[in-house]
Amino acid sequence: CKIDYQARPDLLAGRVILVTGAGDGIGRAAALSYARHGATVILLGRTTAKLEATYDAIEAAGGPQPAIFPLNFEGATLKDYHDMAETLDKEFGRLDGILHNASLLGRLTPFEQYDPALWEQVMQVNINGPIWMTQALLPLLKAADDASVVFTSSSVGRKGRAFWGAYAVSKAATENFSELLADELENVSNIRVNTLNPGATRTQMRKTAYPAEDPQKLRTPDEIMPTYLWLMGLDSQGHSGERFDAQPPKS
Ligand code: NDP
Repeated sequence: CKIDYQARPDLLAGRVILVTGAGDGIGRAAALSYARHGATVILLGRTTAKLEATYDAIEAAGGPQPAIFPLNFEGATLKDYHDMAETLDKEFGRLDGILHNASLLGRLTPFEQYDPALWEQVMQVNINGPIWMTQALLPLLKAADDASVVFTSSSVGRKGRAFWGAYAVSKAATENFSELLADELENVSNIRVNTLNPGATRTQMRKTAYPAEDPQKLRTPDEIMPTYLWLMGLDSQGHSGERFDAQPPKS
């Protein structure tokens, strides 16, 4: 946990970083924070109006001009990912980082009643879409001098918990996938791959999962940004295949 990490103002200067789910919650905060530290951020998400709001906030703060990439992992095809790679190649020629942050919670329900269609949908958005997108973007990551791929995990991905269904299984798969990719890429590229568990954070998803909780008691997305910055910048070079937490463990 790097909650006390102090990022230099120019930590991400000149870097091109893709953030998925950049229209809301933690992804929006990460996009703004990366731009504030000099990155050109590619804002990916399913609701264009929300991506535009993030875009406007970056511009208003004087950050490098971002790019908007509307994409819904639910219906996206391999062709969409390859078209995306082509567009990014033409525009930037490389990719210095990906923050895989977009996710669906699905529904907290006993497995006996879990709707199979919802299960498929959650697996598509949380793991299958992101891995095929990553495959399509590998050549662009390889073209960077140093690239950092960060997958977002969750405590229920580390140990299964009742009622969390496909969400928990998708997060466990995320941890395993990033470890295997890190292992494959070690010594053959400048790409590092890690997972980051944000911990309880004040967002819409958390509110949906814990409706009775007082959100004021939770850290905000802005407050957990130090670890997000550390993992995306050069200070985390040499770390790959590891699991990180953005908040200290609850005492
Ligand atoms: P939010 O629900 O606030 O934001 C999720 C983002 O993902 C939204 O921007 C959403 O788009 C986007 N998204 C959802 N479905 C799709 C899709 N089909 N295609 C493209 N984009 C999509 O969640 P959080 O900010 O809380 O969560 C961010 C990450 O952190 C997730 O991976 C989550 O699992 C993880 N996490 C969060 C915790 C917390 O306490 N908040 C705890 C542990 C893990 P739109 O805005 O259009 O809906």
